[in-house]
Parts: sequence; C-alpha cells; structure tokens
Amino acid sequence: MTNSSARKLNNGLNHTPRKRFGQNFLHDQAVIQRIIDAIAPKPGDRLLEIGPGQGALTEHLAAVGTRLDCVELDRDLADFLIARYEREPHVAIHKQDVLKFELDSLEPAPYSLRVIGNLPYNISTPVLFHLLRFNQSIDDMVFMLQLEVVQRMAAGVGDKNYGRLGLMLQYFCEIEHLFNVPSTAFTPQPKVSSAIVRLRPHRTMPIAARDVDTLQNVIRTAFNQRRKTLRNSLKTLVSDEVFATLPIDVTQRPENLSLKDYVLISDAITDNAT
Ligand code: SAM
Repeated sequence: MTNSSARKLNNGLNHTPRKRFGQNFLHDQAVIQRIIDAIAPKPGDRLLEIGPGQGALTEHLAAVGTRLDCVELDRDLADFLIARYEREPHVAIHKQDVLKFELDSLEPAPYSLRVIGNLPYNISTPVLFHLLRFNQSIDDMVFMLQLEVVQRMAAGVGDKNYGRLGLMLQYFCEIEHLFNVPSTAFTPQPKVSSAIVRLRPHRTMPIAARDVDTLQNVIRTAFNQRRKTLRNSLKTLVSDEVFATLPIDVTQRPENLSLKDYVLISDAITDNAT
C-alpha cells in the first residue's frame, strides 16, 4: 500500500488502509445513505457495528442516539473512534477481534440486536458462522459482502451458486440480496464486486433438524463431491437401506436437493444412530 492511499479525514486521522484487515473504506455518500436507509435505525434499537473503520456508517448510526456498540480490531482506528465518541455515552467501541467477541456479553434481549457491517471480505464466512451462534439474540443483520458470496448465500435449488454456505445460512435465517455496490464507492477500490444483504434469523424454525451438527456434516460431505450422485457422495454416512426409507431419488446430484431433503437425510442418520 502506498502513502498516496492514506486518506486524511477532516478530523485529522491519517490512516493507510491495511490489506490484512480487509480495509476498503466507503466514501460514496449516496451509497452510504442507501445502506443507512436499508437499515432504517430507530430510537430504541440495539445496534452493533462490526468493523466501523473510519466511521463512514458509524456517524449515521450514532446520530440516531440509540445504544451502539462497535467492534474494531485495528487499534489505531479503534483509538480514533474511542476519542471521537468520548462524549457520547450511548456509543461504545470494543477494541477486539469480532471472531472472539461474545455477543451475549452485551446482555441482549431475545432477537434484539441489529448487526451492521461493511465486513472484511477475507474473514466474512467465519464472521457469519460466528454470529449464527448468537442467532437467538439477533433481530437482523445488514452486511456489505463480496457479491459472489451474497449470490451463494441467497441461491436456491438448482442454481449454480447453490451449496453449503447458502443451505446453512438459510437454515437459520431468511436472506435477502438488497442491492449491488460498485467498487468505485470504496477507497481503496476492492478487486471484486460488492453487495448488500439482509439476514433475519427465523423466530420459529421453518424446518428443524434433530441434530444440527449432523445436518452440517451431511451438507459438507455431499458438496465436497458435487459431481457425484448422492448415493456415492453420502456412501460413508447413509446406507442403501436407510436411503430406501426416504422419499429421495439417490441418483440426483447434491445441487438438486432442497434444505428439507437434507434435513430428512440428517434426521434418518440421527434416528439410526440412537
Ligand atoms: N465500516 C468501514 C467503512 O464502511 O468504511 C470500514 C469497512 S472495512 C471493509 C472492514 C473493517 O473491519 C476495517 O475497519 C477493519 O479494520 C475491520 N476488521 C477487520 N478484521 C476485523 C476483525 N477480525 N474484527 C473486527 N474488525 C475487523
């Protein structure tokens, strides 16, 4: 990163974006406003921002005056934000790795947290799975992610992007691809296209597996060998006898099965193990 990419803000922060922290800062005010409109934060909300960076979204979120917690790993940026919000007690900056941040430490009411973030793309999938551990504390999540990741998250049966990420996230949440964001909205510009997505944890699970770890294992194993038929890819997990009890055509490929089909297979494994 050259010095020319350092961005001097009105408040004097002179920060060179750090690639290892996935730093692509939003500068396009129209895009920032569109994201804020999609979140529509209101008094009484419990807001949690991941990776506030130089505060492009934070400014708008803090202006609502409702409680706002921010988790930032970059010490320089976190210190800058701590000083910036020193006199605003409704804003708390946590100088921490979000992957180690326990959302329960905020003592949220059930389904109360509204999580926001222009996420560091290099760790976006681990961040999503970390947050899902607290899905019963989360109202919704609005994230900027790599477009390709959003397409995988929202993909349905038969779609070329359909796979493990989409199935597992759709198991826990309703997913909505909101809009795309051009690379020109960021400094420095990312090499990939971006998009805004909303995830809303299900209040009542539409389809519930008896054991989620088994479901994860079935989906992972099936998609590890995408080109194989189900009978072959799941051979180590499901016998022909067990398959015969299920209303599923075992000559299909993994991308042709719905979440409900995977839950049926997972439950059959769980039942046969007990
Ligand atoms: N929100 C700002 C914006 O939109 O301009 C910055 C977004 S930038 C894509 C990602 C931010 O996440 C950076 O500020 C980076 O330092 C921070 N970050 C990276 N890894 C993190 C981690 N493990 N935990 C918390 N924050 C992290």
